[in-house]
Amino acid sequence: MSDFSVADAQASILHHVKRSGRETIALHDSLGRILAEDIRANRNHPPYNVSAMDGYAVRFIDAAEVPALLTVVQDIRAGEMPQAEVRQGEAARIMTGAPTPAGIDTVVRVEDTEAEGDRVSILSMPKQGANIRPLGENLKSGEVVLSSGTEITPGVLAILAMVKQKQVTVFARPSVAILSTGDELEGIDDPIDENKIPNANSHALYAQCRSLGIEPVLLGIARDNPEDLKAKLSEGLKYDILLASGGVSVGVHDFVRSMLDELGITMHFWRVAMRPGHPLAFGTLESDSSSERCGVFGLPGNPVASMVCFEQFVAPALRSIMGHEKLFRRTIKARLEHDVNGSAGRTLFVRVVIGSDEQGYAVSSTGAQGSGVLMSMAMADGLMVVPAESGGFRAGEMVTVQLLQGMDFQAEPKGY
Ligand code: AMP
Ligand code: MG
Repeated sequence: MSDFSVADAQASILHHVKRSGRETIALHDSLGRILAEDIRANRNHPPYNVSAMDGYAVRFIDAAEVPALLTVVQDIRAGEMPQAEVRQGEAARIMTGAPTPAGIDTVVRVEDTEAEGDRVSILSMPKQGANIRPLGENLKSGEVVLSSGTEITPGVLAILAMVKQKQVTVFARPSVAILSTGDELEGIDDPIDENKIPNANSHALYAQCRSLGIEPVLLGIARDNPEDLKAKLSEGLKYDILLASGGVSVGVHDFVRSMLDELGITMHFWRVAMRPGHPLAFGTLESDSSSERCGVFGLPGNPVASMVCFEQFVAPALRSIMGHEKLFRRTIKARLEHDVNGSAGRTLFVRVVIGSDEQGYAVSSTGAQGSGVLMSMAMADGLMVVPAESGGFRAGEMVTVQLLQGMDFQAEPKGY
């Protein structure tokens, strides 16, 4: 099997993962989730015409010529219903959010009036109809106000609260297991052994999952022998998604792929033309009982490569499972501050710091870009994409950069 391009690998993964089922959760737990039901307004909002200002409700015709002196016949506060119609020569003092009385067609801001006992002098008139928010302006009873597939942002959550959805039905999150492999690895709770390599990947992947709103399970470290790998990989296959890092290369102790084979996983690809992250395997296990399946990622052992591959492949898969339409990290165009060489036939992901100059964003590399140099990832604001066909970029050229910090995603990947 030849190397997959980044785009082909993404397409293959997204083809093989499926959206999860629904679950009903408390409104307050729903931030960032995707609605799995259409939401209809159960009332009009506002329920009547309301004043948008503190001021005076008047008949436009009575104050078409200013100044005009009107008699204040009532006082209407928010939450109170008007007592009577406003007739010729009359006005009602009205507060923001209060229902407008019958007879009026305009609200004049208090700043444009002068109160004189039980009278008010209108000094300046807005347009007819001004400062009134009409019944149902926000929500119309019976109308679909939010459709299935909408991401629950704070603004969307406010609408859900308005229609009294104390509970909402959303797409479920996948269960995710994380396994690191390698004889050289030392767990975070193990005593320090100078000859070992501390396990960074499990924790980096854990944090990346958490940033997507998923609480993964850490399965620890599997040693590079078939027995231990088999036991731990089998455990991982009980989850919707298994992230196994290390051991997917072509070294004599890289047993992960052959063991996945033995466990009945159908491998869809195992090498992607990219750097960092060349060895990257993806397969699925179909269970015979139902349509349940596990998607397995064999991520590279190099910590940077593992993290970059998570961003390009695992995050879109997890977001797709959770019902998102925007799967890929938001990209920006930025001016490159120094030359960057390409890598023949491979898409490069260069860790960059994002700054700005007079023209907009400007980016520069975080320093040494070896895939073992974790600091390059720790300091990065973004990943600059150098397409496989390009020979690289020169200083001053505009480049595409994926934003790594924050939670902004887009529907289409860009830059390769
Ligand atoms: P591998 O893909 O297993 O050949 O590993 C490639 C490199 O990544 C080796 O230098 C490993 O020691 C290192 N590595 C593998 N897994 C981890 C891990 N979980 N944490 C930190 N480094 C790792
Ligand atoms: Mg290894």
